[in-house]
Amino acid sequence: MSAITVRVPAKVNLQLAVGPLREDGYHDLVNVFHAVSLFDEVTAAEPFDPAPGRDPSAASLGVRVEGDLAGEVPVSDDNLAVRAARALADRTGRSYRADLLIRKSIPVAGGMAGGSADAAAALVACNELWGLGLPREDLMEIAADIGSDVPFALLGGTAVGTGRGERLAPLETAGVFHWVFALADGGLSTPRVYGECDRLREEAGVAAPTPAVSEALLAALREGDVRALGQALSNDLQPAALALRPSLANTLAAGREHGALGALVSGSGPTCAFLAESAERAHELAALIKNVDGCRSVVTASGPVPGATVAG
Ligand code: ATP
Repeated sequence: MSAITVRVPAKVNLQLAVGPLREDGYHDLVNVFHAVSLFDEVTAAEPFDPAPGRDPSAASLGVRVEGDLAGEVPVSDDNLAVRAARALADRTGRSYRADLLIRKSIPVAGGMAGGSADAAAALVACNELWGLGLPREDLMEIAADIGSDVPFALLGGTAVGTGRGERLAPLETAGVFHWVFALADGGLSTPRVYGECDRLREEAGVAAPTPAVSEALLAALREGDVRALGQALSNDLQPAALALRPSLANTLAAGREHGALGALVSGSGPTCAFLAESAERAHELAALIKNVDGCRSVVTASGPVPGATVAG
């Protein structure tokens, strides 16, 4: 096989409960992930021709990014898809070569784990391209070393993550949920938002609670009860994201006024997520939110959807 394309979804956090800062610099989390139908595509191909004079068996991993958001994504070794491909090659102890092409639709630094999604897609694509045949459990292990959100991008569906978010258990859900995402101009750095969360808690003299999964959320998912789900959405990072980007409060308020059943900042933001009663209501809501100040664009999506999957 000379090229493999993998489609991988974005995520929204239905619950993000943030515990105290641990000694290793991470926070203990309860993170309910939900994969939605907003996809990046990653193609891994055998490199065309080695540069003249270069050893054709030498390891080489290249990356290109296409799409309106391409300018915001690094095309160096820091690209998470490249890091993932390298981690996979290292695991086998051999040198491998691939050209990676990312078709980017997931917002960058938007709180929807787009970089992690590309890392997961690169693992699946290179595993196939290189004929390694590693089972999903092995890919999950490599994924967890790359970043806390990467294992979920492999798994997809709806799942609860504990620890720093990387220990995953799939959750039972019923039906399809319809979402609107309001994308903001510019991103928010995830470490900065966590830092602001710690700072706000310290300033208020509030000790971080031990994170626990919301029983109301689990029941709403199990029963496919969209109204109860709207009520149960929560994100402990939201006050910090709003402190760093005050305009998000307008966006959330506009969604609620226009009938969203739930409205919250997605992960570390600045993307805002709105739950709608139906696909039709999601489209109406998107049209109404589009013109709010600070909102760059809107997209509709539904979930849950499967994780990184070989396309076609
Ligand atoms: P999360 O929701 O997991 O906190 P995020 O959605 O806020 O993440 P990402 O889009 O995953 O943020 O990217 C964060 C940073 O990672 C970007 O600013 C970018 O510099 C870097 N990055 C590296 N590789 C990629 C990639 N393939 N796609 C997007 N960003 C990447």
